[in-house]
Amino acid sequence: MIKEILWFPSNKCFIDGNWIEPQNKKYIQLYNPSNGEFLTEISRGTKADINLAVRAAEKSIYSNWGKAEAVDRGRILRKMSNLILKNIDKLALIESIDVGKPLDQSKSDAIALARYLEFYGGASDKIHGTTIPFKKDFLVYSIREPLGVTAHIIPWNYPMQIIGRSIGASLAMGNACILKPAEEACLTALAFGAIAKEAGLPDGALNIIPGYGKEAGKALSSHQGVNFISFTGSFRTGTKVQASAAKNVTGTTLELGGKSPQLVFNDCNIERAIPFLVKAGIQNAGQTCSASSRILVQEELLSRVTYLMGHEYKKLRVGPAIKNLEVGPVISKKQQTIVEGYLEAGSDLQILSTGSLNNSKDENGFYCTPTLFMCDDPSHILAQEEIFGPIQILIPFKDEEDAINIANSTNYGLVASIWSENGARQMRLAKAIKAGQIFINNYGAGGGIELPFGGIGRSGHGREKGYEALFSFSQIKTVASFHG
Ligand code: NAD
Repeated sequence: MIKEILWFPSNKCFIDGNWIEPQNKKYIQLYNPSNGEFLTEISRGTKADINLAVRAAEKSIYSNWGKAEAVDRGRILRKMSNLILKNIDKLALIESIDVGKPLDQSKSDAIALARYLEFYGGASDKIHGTTIPFKKDFLVYSIREPLGVTAHIIPWNYPMQIIGRSIGASLAMGNACILKPAEEACLTALAFGAIAKEAGLPDGALNIIPGYGKEAGKALSSHQGVNFISFTGSFRTGTKVQASAAKNVTGTTLELGGKSPQLVFNDCNIERAIPFLVKAGIQNAGQTCSASSRILVQEELLSRVTYLMGHEYKKLRVGPAIKNLEVGPVISKKQQTIVEGYLEAGSDLQILSTGSLNNSKDENGFYCTPTLFMCDDPSHILAQEEIFGPIQILIPFKDEEDAINIANSTNYGLVASIWSENGARQMRLAKAIKAGQIFINNYGAGGGIELPFGGIGRSGHGREKGYEALFSFSQIKTVASFHG
């Protein structure tokens, strides 16, 4: 079925505007998470392919893309955006089959990719340096320049969104990009190459090398010709990428994991909060960096939240991605085993409610039962570790101070939300909670293409999304001119 909808050669690398076989002629097999069946093969790229991609990107910097006017870069990105929208149904179906996410979520990811390209396409000619008041005989100004060749190593959970926010911003600034998508799922990343070509993106400005992390990923992050690395993935791999980058003094943005809390106070509008509390935990079967796996609830409201969230959990149907239910499978057998390990680790906790596996019982896919636990120990493994599955815990708290201490008690700091109608409390908590993004009476702001995003602590460093990403993918040169 997937072969019929792939309109590009999915078993090749995209280098210098051409689809070429991996140098070693080796391939990786992809499986459909919804039924465990073989899908197709992708290239098993290695150092030899990365070398070709770096050379193509360097050439592009000194010729076509590096010489393009900012306004023309923007026009091409906006053309890519339109082509994404034109192909939206195909892209959504490919993503659902490849990643296992329900169709509506895949469609919303494709819309986000188009919106990123529209946003960065519009911004490419609106970002500039400044003049700086200095000594009277000088004119001093700064120029904002591209970094050169940027590497983008991404995971499988939101390929389209992550491509939009990192490659969109990097291309807008005039860099040439090398994308290393994840070995578990990368078909929409390859589709992106086909769309870039159709939109007229010059050869070499975008190169795509699928492959394993320890081969293609390692070769890319340690390559001397790479001027900046945008890495999105786990904390563990992030430390390896940063160590490789350090050997060449290459800059990095690390977008890593999280253990994001939502703080629910007595005075909140609980009816408004409930759908956000649940969705933030089970979206993409909980495989979201900003998944909210910890729901901190003020004691007086605990029984009501338990009842209302429990009720929502009972309505969660788990099944194949193309059935478009509330929850799809997790990405792989390995991930399913990890999630089951966490369910086992929670055997000392009270299960408050679960979703239903009825829609997946005839399938051979990688399904996990959405599970809501009560946990009054913030140091419990389920309250500390990123799970990457449809599991949430309720943690009771007494007062503001208690809530802040629990919220800040993990090594992560990606996202948090505060549910309260008290304005002064909202301000105090927004300052006190350690996270890169704070939401008040919402969670995620519907995606927030325009909103700078990134973590602190083990959630990483650097910012993507919004205008901030354009700063991340460029550098300032200062010119001091003496005119006498
Ligand atoms: P991962 O770290 O295993 O893999 C991510 C990417 O790194 C893949 O492309 C992989 O091939 C590559 N890689 C692996 N080893 C490498 C090495 N030695 N050198 C270079 N590259 C290497 O992560 P994953 O399990 O695929 O993704 C899940 C993680 O990603 C979670 O922790 C999640 O929170 C995080 N994530 C973060 C964000 C964010 O924006 N903060 C977004 C999505 C996912």
